[in-house]
Amino acid sequence: MTAPPSMAEFRRGLAGPLRLLLPGDIPADEVGDLVLLDEAGQLHDEALDLGLEHLVPRAAWDEHWSWARVNAEQEERRVYEVLRRLPPKEYTRVRGRLVRHASGELTRLRRVWDGMLGQLDLYEPISTWQWCQVRGYWFACPLCRWPMRVSQSGAVREVRCEAHARDGVIYTCNPDRMTNRAPQLQPAGAAATAVRAKPATAEHLALTRTTWRYMTLPGLLECGLQDHARSLGARVSMWPHKDRYDLKITLGRRMWKVDAKAWASVTKLGDALKDIDPAEPGLIIVIPDHQRNSRELLQRMIGRRGYRVLTAAGLIAELADGKAERT
Ligand SMILES: [Zn+2]
Repeated sequence: MTAPPSMAEFRRGLAGPLRLLLPGDIPADEVGDLVLLDEAGQLHDEALDLGLEHLVPRAAWDEHWSWARVNAEQEERRVYEVLRRLPPKEYTRVRGRLVRHASGELTRLRRVWDGMLGQLDLYEPISTWQWCQVRGYWFACPLCRWPMRVSQSGAVREVRCEAHARDGVIYTCNPDRMTNRAPQLQPAGAAATAVRAKPATAEHLALTRTTWRYMTLPGLLECGLQDHARSLGARVSMWPHKDRYDLKITLGRRMWKVDAKAWASVTKLGDALKDIDPAEPGLIIVIPDHQRNSRELLQRMIGRRGYRVLTAAGLIAELADGKAERT
């Protein structure tokens, strides 16, 4: 049995992975990597989402963190408003760029966005984000290219993508070694491919957190589904009617209309959809495979409205059936 932490240790622990704060005999399971407070003392978005998922009364959160929450929701609405004004062709191009360019150097982003960068106002300078920096450098996730979060446990920093740590995008970094050079990452997870440090200057930008979560992450899921469906010989169009839904897949006589969602909290997603009719009859909501245990819950929450809920793997299985029927 370990001794309980002192108050000072406990306070420090709130800014590190939750598993370090829990007594050794309590399994941290899926919340082990959760960090409750950021360096500014604000509750992390993911912690809030998990709190909602576990039905901690919303009022208890709102009392202390309402401002941060409202701000995220306003930002989400603003992003959608900006995109909705674009002509359909441009909308599709923009959604594609948001998937491929979650971060980058200003000069390159200017080229990619071709005059639209300032107009859209979806990026922020990474220099203002302390949470992703080691000695003035930052690291892009090899899967989504958004800055990875740095947390400290002892002398070693842990560097992980908030969305892809569960897939093995985890590194360690000792910032005190070779201080005359950019810090180097050591792979610590199965998907930790080589990543180079980049200087956290005002010349390096990344999408706002809201845009990354609600545009880039589902976009990656959609592109994966698109590739898979095409490999089966399906016809696929991405974002065919702007934001009405995301993906139209036709294979033989069957058709799937799909909206991919990558919300941290499936419960919150259910709350957002349960009062809205599907944009198309039989619209399929696809959630990431790691949320498979919440699929039934979400189906119960929104099924009455006419939605069908599948995991990405579930949709892929249906597509395989569709191909088998065709041949
Ligand atoms: Zn990532």
